[in-house]
Amino acid sequence: MIQQQALFITEHFARTWQQQLSEAFNTIEGLCDYLQLSSDTLPISAAAAKNFPIRVPLSFAACIEKGNPHDPLLRQVLPVYDETLIVPGYTSDPVGDLPAAAQTGIIHKYHGRVLLINTGSCAVNCRYCFRRNFPYAELQLGKQQEQAAIAHISSDASITEVILSGGDPLLLNDLRLAKLIVQLNGIKQLKRIRIHTRLPIVLPARITGALIDTLRNSSKQIVVVVHCNHANEINSRVIAACQQLKNSGITLLNQSVLLKGVNDNADVLSCLSEQLFAIGIIPYYLHLLDKATGTAHFEVCEADALELVRQLQNRLPGYLVPRLVKEQAGAASKQAI
Ligand SMILES: *Cc1c(COP(=O)(O)O)cnc(C)c1O
Ligand code: SF4
Repeated sequence: MIQQQALFITEHFARTWQQQLSEAFNTIEGLCDYLQLSSDTLPISAAAAKNFPIRVPLSFAACIEKGNPHDPLLRQVLPVYDETLIVPGYTSDPVGDLPAAAQTGIIHKYHGRVLLINTGSCAVNCRYCFRRNFPYAELQLGKQQEQAAIAHISSDASITEVILSGGDPLLLNDLRLAKLIVQLNGIKQLKRIRIHTRLPIVLPARITGALIDTLRNSSKQIVVVVHCNHANEINSRVIAACQQLKNSGITLLNQSVLLKGVNDNADVLSCLSEQLFAIGIIPYYLHLLDKATGTAHFEVCEADALELVRQLQNRLPGYLVPRLVKEQAGAASKQAI
């Protein structure tokens, strides 16, 4: 049985990223079996999984400690009973701009930067995500909408940076992405293309040679902002993927979400910063949780968050301390705490 599992794992990582994605865990039982966890020792909720399906690529699951029901990575992906609680102050749309974006494909909220949303799906379903309440998982902007979004960007001279976001923009295939980047390269006033993605962390096979070529050949500067919450998420495949990005001259930044029971601890956060920097990634933002329905059990209050950042400042160089921010509807930028 164990030999069989080892063989399956070796074969899995030899496959394309699309195949690896199609083999991601999509049932609680499948994940628990693999992790040698008995489902009756966990606060699992089928109702939570029905509302927002479980989705965990094997590369990420392989970083979870077997047999540990309190693993900080498991907590990020396992559908649990607490998600079904109704808590005052938690709403289905705390950020306030997703439904509109799902139709037009762009969010132009901050000066000089515009978010382009090409796809609503992700390789992993993070239980704390505000996206959980929008079942637009298969949203893929049609050609026409994409052209309209590009036209909007071209016509506004104040926009100097396009941020590919989602969902996860790297779920677009290489050809589609290459075409998009060629179009963006044609917009004169643009200086940078930024890609917000969790794929280098959860599905590092996505960093293909073709993708690297596309990014390397772009005439605009490329910034990749990954999303990693805990140093345990960084395995040898992640390191190799980040190395490839780094070697192509791309600036790598990280954003994390401050999550109770995952990384709400100065040791964990400082280890994360150190390990990110060791592989060429600068800590950028530490986000307070967006108050989306079903995520209250992840909340860390502002006072505790501030205290954690103070502890980080006392032990790390300034450039390894991420900026603590929160999203505020209507504000001109993310708000520093
Ligand atoms: C977070 C975000 C950005 C990027 O903000 P930075 O502070 O430049 O990282 C841009 N647009 C929207 C709508 C955002 O939510
Ligand atoms: S990868 Fe990002 S957008 Fe996707 S579910 Fe996780 S937190 Fe949400």
